[in-house]
Amino acid sequence: MRPDILNPLFAEVTALKGIGPGLAMPLDKLGLSRVVDVLFHLPTGWIDRVARDELDMADAGRTIVITLTAREYRSSTGRGPTRVHAADARGNIVSLVYFGGHSGWAKKLAPIGEPRRVSGRLELYGQELQIVHPDYVLPLDEAGEQPEREAIYPLSEGLTSRRMGQLAAQALERAPELPEWIEPGLLAKRGWPGWRDAMARVHADPSDMVARERLAYDEVFANQLALTLVRQSSRARRGRALTGDARLRDALKLPYSLTGAQVRVVSEIEGDLAQAQPMLRLLQGDVGSGKTLVATMALLLAVEAGAQGALLAPTEILARQHYETLRRLLAGVPVEVAILTGRDKGKVREATLMGLASGAIDILIGTHAIFQEAVSYKDLALVVVDEQHRFGVAQRMMLQAKAKAAPHLLAMTATPIPRTLTLANYGEMDVSQIDEMPPGRQPIETRVISEDRLSEMVDALARHLSDGGQAYWVCPLVEESEKTDLAAAEARAETLRARFGDRVGLVHGRMKGPEKDAVMEAFAAGRTGVLVATTVIEVGVDVPNATLIVIEAADRFGLAQLHQLRGRVGRGSGRSICLLIRGNALSETSRARLALMRETNDGFRIAEEDLRLRGSGELLGTKQSGEAAFRIATPEMLNELLPIATDDARLLIDRDGGLSADRGQAARTALYLFERDAGVALLRSG
Ligand code: ADP
Ligand code: MG
Repeated sequence: MRPDILNPLFAEVTALKGIGPGLAMPLDKLGLSRVVDVLFHLPTGWIDRVARDELDMADAGRTIVITLTAREYRSSTGRGPTRVHAADARGNIVSLVYFGGHSGWAKKLAPIGEPRRVSGRLELYGQELQIVHPDYVLPLDEAGEQPEREAIYPLSEGLTSRRMGQLAAQALERAPELPEWIEPGLLAKRGWPGWRDAMARVHADPSDMVARERLAYDEVFANQLALTLVRQSSRARRGRALTGDARLRDALKLPYSLTGAQVRVVSEIEGDLAQAQPMLRLLQGDVGSGKTLVATMALLLAVEAGAQGALLAPTEILARQHYETLRRLLAGVPVEVAILTGRDKGKVREATLMGLASGAIDILIGTHAIFQEAVSYKDLALVVVDEQHRFGVAQRMMLQAKAKAAPHLLAMTATPIPRTLTLANYGEMDVSQIDEMPPGRQPIETRVISEDRLSEMVDALARHLSDGGQAYWVCPLVEESEKTDLAAAEARAETLRARFGDRVGLVHGRMKGPEKDAVMEAFAAGRTGVLVATTVIEVGVDVPNATLIVIEAADRFGLAQLHQLRGRVGRGSGRSICLLIRGNALSETSRARLALMRETNDGFRIAEEDLRLRGSGELLGTKQSGEAAFRIATPEMLNELLPIATDDARLLIDRDGGLSADRGQAARTALYLFERDAGVALLRSG
């Protein structure tokens, strides 16, 4: 149970004053659903307001403070913005722009003919000056209320930094003093403030690195403590040795033979499984290197040994695909495979749950639905996690808690993960590599093409289709809004349909499950030739006949993501092509990034570069999994703090009396604060 002292922080964000329906959405987009989320949503820098007497185009891009007098209102019809034309002392004009039907409000803020002290970011719109949603519009006698400096927060549409600052201030008011969990010697040495103090300092001064570091340490410490608890409990529970007689693996009829690397990796896994100590192994292999087959062999071994295995996939599409693959592969092999995702409901779900509990089902494939409360296994002994970077520590711990003995764990990834990050995500683990592609693969030819030549691309697609080929067409990712992504994909499907008719399929994340399946199925079976998609096809999808992929606005994707997307082709023996469409206003870095994609098919090189350019957030999968892995710690902080936190967590458990001693009680609070409490539950159940 969460300590009561944390309750005010885990209240819904709507408990804060002034959060109406208008703010609920933008906050939700940022993932800020509870008070604690607002508290940990830290400012990234400062904004400085410069006071001006006169409007000047040279100030475009700056945040200014200036006295303006409204002259007229222009409300556009429909959903357009309201514009308030306002003049400075010299009669220069600027438009104050209000979107979203705020005309009444604008008139109240700035009545015609009355001077106001206005602050906001000055922009050039064509040849006109404008300020969109000014931060402050105040009567002159209240003008002192505008701070000269203000913290800037990461925002979504509909939010301002000022608003975020106000919410953070309220969240801080609710924040209790918490007992200290950091080891006193370390706290003194670093000169770190207490938790609440650190929180207040960071919101008041985004550049306060000492306070920020303390908060980062808390987060890393909670994470490492949870991992230490897991390890301790699995030591206490022990695992069980799995030995197979190969009867199932021998019954497998493969259309090809395993590569040398696959054989080696399978035998490494076999060696691990034969030990009572639970396997903790990371399997790295580039996109298309054949990890699924390795997973299948491991799962079959577990079944031969009389146990059950589970294969966890990050998306519904991928889970379905694995299910189909395994069913095809295992036709004629006496083993029962089932699937469970969030979509399976009612009788089918009941039957699956019963099969798992009775042991009638040997292998379960699914999404995170497979570690929900109601799911219990007769004898789960091996958990395989595909695309492991999509999952967080807590999620995985829940699955492990389902097994009687500590289960063996095989995590698979195409993305090489630096040691610090595996340490943060798993603790110590062994690594296997598939460093060899199945024979007959040809390198994918990658070209970077300007968006001006889109119509040529469509012609190329037409030729490709008439030669019997299939293709993916991936639509741009617009950071802000899923809706816009969708609109772009729908529009593209529409234009392609105008030319290719019903040979065009469309798949996106908002689709209902069965609908999605039908589209994927039609493409896999060759009934459609082009699959227009948002990034839902990013991971794992395997249709070897598709040998052309077009990626629109490629410069907006991360490199690792592009590599994953590109890996959807080049899966058969045919020659494959990847066309990266780029915008025209490319930065130097974007240019270099796309050039790297053109130059190499080497996932390791690409991942290294990506890590350098984007930091660890992507790799840790915070964005995709929806679980905050590290909200505060940057990769640099992680590098420095991780070893210290790891040692301290171990010290607390091994020497300082664990969670029941004083500091342990405080540390328990930290686990709950950072939502690593699955570790506590594990300890209890174990
Ligand atoms: P990934 O490692 O990206 O998960 P997959 O497991 O999806 O790759 O395998 C990619 C493709 O390679 C699949 O079509 C699979 O059938 C094929 N494949 C796997 N192993 C071999 C092999 N030893 N020889 C030939 N093809 C193979
Ligand atoms: Mg895969």
